[in-house]
Amino acid sequence: MVEENLRKAAKTLFDEGKVKLIIGFEEGSLPMRASPAFIRSADETKRLTWNSFCENNLASYIRYYIPSLEDGERIGVVAKGCDARSLICLLKEKQFKREQIVIIGVKCQGMIDWKRIRDEVAPDDILEAKEEKDEIDVRTRSSQKKFKKSDYLYDNCQECDRREPVINDFIVEAAEQGTGKKDRWSRIKEFEQMTPEERWKYFKEETSRCIRCYACRNACPVCYCSECFVDSTMPYWVGTTLESSDVQVFHLIRALHTAGRCTYCGNCTQACPMGIDIAFLVGKLSKDVQELFSHEVGVDPDEPPALSAYSEKDSNEDFA
Ligand code: SF4
Ligand code: SF4
Ligand code: SF4
Repeated sequence: MVEENLRKAAKTLFDEGKVKLIIGFEEGSLPMRASPAFIRSADETKRLTWNSFCENNLASYIRYYIPSLEDGERIGVVAKGCDARSLICLLKEKQFKREQIVIIGVKCQGMIDWKRIRDEVAPDDILEAKEEKDEIDVRTRSSQKKFKKSDYLYDNCQECDRREPVINDFIVEAAEQGTGKKDRWSRIKEFEQMTPEERWKYFKEETSRCIRCYACRNACPVCYCSECFVDSTMPYWVGTTLESSDVQVFHLIRALHTAGRCTYCGNCTQACPMGIDIAFLVGKLSKDVQELFSHEVGVDPDEPPALSAYSEKDSNEDFA
């Protein structure tokens, strides 16, 4: 039903000449995967899909297409709760204008951590996976098993309390399925209970697996600098080796660059080929910004970005 409404709405936007491009999702080439889709005509809208594997934050892609827009042209974007919050950040940072995008909001049901399901059936390959109301029915060469969706949501989706897009031009409703079971920031609160030595050990162990592929940076909607500090040679901010100090400095600087801008969408974690939960590390700083400056990321389009506004009432405590 959501898929049908989504296709209908997208077709209407093309028929009425309101968009030049729609960024949404289409079926991936493997079971339990959906891929970003770049739809350029009413005919192509039948490729659009919506399911519990539409995990990418599509706000990340808009920057590549904005420069090609002529006056009055617009890009449509399918936005879940976290995509919409990233769009607010990008609008506040003047990466594009509100009138250049049409936000097709989808009330999100939470996304499934397909890697956990894959690992549970390994070494068998998954031949087919069908999404049902509350379950994913997975068939391999030697077995058929159902997985309860609410038990396999991504950690950040388990904690998400902003599933409805806070900014949109219209909403395509999603059926309510598998709501999160945890309180906002619950994992980060557990992390905060650790001693500084335990936290540092955790950070060192996690980042020791990093191969510096930068997939986390590339997937992040708010990592959009045309020249990233890691690629700069004048000045030379950070070494390019896999020495632990270089890797740790990369992660620390990226975390500071996204502090108060990260919506804890989980895209960086999902993109990491080494299974490093980097969103968790970055999200900690957004939690700190929220607590110190009463600024919830990507919620109020009229509020200035937290770290570019100073008030005498601001806390003078350090964060991190
Ligand atoms: S973080 Fe929230 S809005 Fe984003 S995919 Fe998860 S449940 Fe949906
Ligand atoms: S740092 Fe990670 S969790 Fe935060 S906005 Fe970027 S991709 Fe999303
Ligand atoms: S995606 Fe993972 S391995 Fe690649 S740079 Fe980021 S943390 Fe390191």
